[in-house]
Amino acid sequence: MSGMGRGGGKGQGIGRGGQGQGQMGGSGLGPAGECRCPNCGYTMSHQTAVPCYQQTCPKCGSKMTRP
Ligand SMILES: [Zn+2]
Repeated sequence: MSGMGRGGGKGQGIGRGGQGQGQMGGSGLGPAGECRCPNCGYTMSHQTAVPCYQQTCPKCGSKMTRP
């Protein structure tokens, strides 16, 4: 007897995409071109010529950072 090997079979793999990236920030990240104060959360428009970290928050005086 010649047996034929059965090769194959249904292979349905359910691929789960990794969803749910842990991103910090509750207020929502602003668009590029904004500086945010890490201390009080004050946001201001970012000037292209001046980096955010060179600007200070008008409210608390902390250094601004990019969101
Ligand atoms: Zn501030």
